[in-house]
Amino acid sequence: MDWLAERAKRIKPSATLAVTARANALKAQGVDVIGFGAGEPDFDTPDPIKEAAWKALREGFTKYTPVGGIDALKDAIIERFKQDSGISYDRKQILVSCGAKHSLYNLFMAVLNPGDEVLIPAPCWVSYPDMVQLADAVPVLIPSTEKDGFRIKPEVLKSRITKKTRALIINSPSNPTGSAYTENELRALAEPAVEAGLLIISDEIYGKLVYDGFRFVSVGSLSEKIRKSAVIVDGVSKSYSMTGWRIGYAAGPAEVISAMTNIQSQSTSNPTSFAQKGALEALSGPQDFVGKMREEFSRRRDYIVGRLNAMPGVTCSKPQGAFYVFPNVATHFGKSDQGKKLLGSNDLATYLLEKAHVAVVAGVEFGSDQHVRLSYATSMKQIEEGMNRIEAALKKLA
Ligand code: PMP
Ligand code: GLU
Repeated sequence: MDWLAERAKRIKPSATLAVTARANALKAQGVDVIGFGAGEPDFDTPDPIKEAAWKALREGFTKYTPVGGIDALKDAIIERFKQDSGISYDRKQILVSCGAKHSLYNLFMAVLNPGDEVLIPAPCWVSYPDMVQLADAVPVLIPSTEKDGFRIKPEVLKSRITKKTRALIINSPSNPTGSAYTENELRALAEPAVEAGLLIISDEIYGKLVYDGFRFVSVGSLSEKIRKSAVIVDGVSKSYSMTGWRIGYAAGPAEVISAMTNIQSQSTSNPTSFAQKGALEALSGPQDFVGKMREEFSRRRDYIVGRLNAMPGVTCSKPQGAFYVFPNVATHFGKSDQGKKLLGSNDLATYLLEKAHVAVVAGVEFGSDQHVRLSYATSMKQIEEGMNRIEAALKKLA
């Protein structure tokens, strides 16, 4: 019996989560795996955040909350937007969800009709195309190259807008490349998109993780006109090392936020009550944790980029943000491991996991088969060992 809906057949499991699960399964068998797969900070959630959640539990804050999040958290989100980017929102323009991923899912369900096209600069995070397809819409990938710093050009964007185009996703800094747009570059993309009547979906989850003095600019701060056509998605997972807490949020036009809240009210209801209290502390408490984490990531990025570029046949550009590097490894394709030819990024990632016990994610999952993605959200010691292993494994290929 074929029980499955067409929509379920269209999508695959998240490759980033699948690689992490595979690496963890090997670790559970006692294999010493170095994990560059997971896109999550290796730092512990700061104590004051944990304490705020404990306090909420102790005080019995364990019941349903308003579907779209508690007012205090919405106010803290509004205040962060004001302080960080100078943008003003009111409570009706904010939705708190079970992670930024959930906000994005609600958003696609709220704004996409069957057959609508969504422009997605690629390489892109694995979940955008599949979430768009879950909403019966069509992902349209706009490729970019290393030569262009993995940034798309406005003229290419304009050439891809059709009568069916509904939205443009911007993810700066990007997962998987770490590349980020300057203010002028962002404006050059956002203006024609808004002129064409598109909704801009700006995933700013890595906005606080930028290096070497790069200035992150929120799409919402470009102009009032652009802000009114944009939904900004963010969350506490990456900036405060709270991936498991599942708190993310969206800010945008009140009618879109209201529709997203309705969808949430008929699916998950509110995000976890005491996790909201933790997120409230994260966003409104001292922010020095973020700076310390950023410094450490910056140090690791410099090291990992240096090591990768020193490996034969590997080139890796230095990203402006996030905690990923996206080296080009294509010169190794066609070589063999004990007679077995490696034909693309999936083969190479499997080889590295099975033979070198290093987990990386194949670039093909993000829309580029020439690359692999490594997350450097792991300790310097692990990075050093992982780099030694990759270097040795690549040298073994014949
Ligand atoms: N957007 C991007 C680009 C991401 O890499 C992630 C990481 N999972 C998310 C959104 C979702 O984050 P979360 O659901 O943990 O808030
Ligand atoms: N965003 C992270 C990653 O790309 C976490 C896993 C996921 O949700 O995709 O690895």
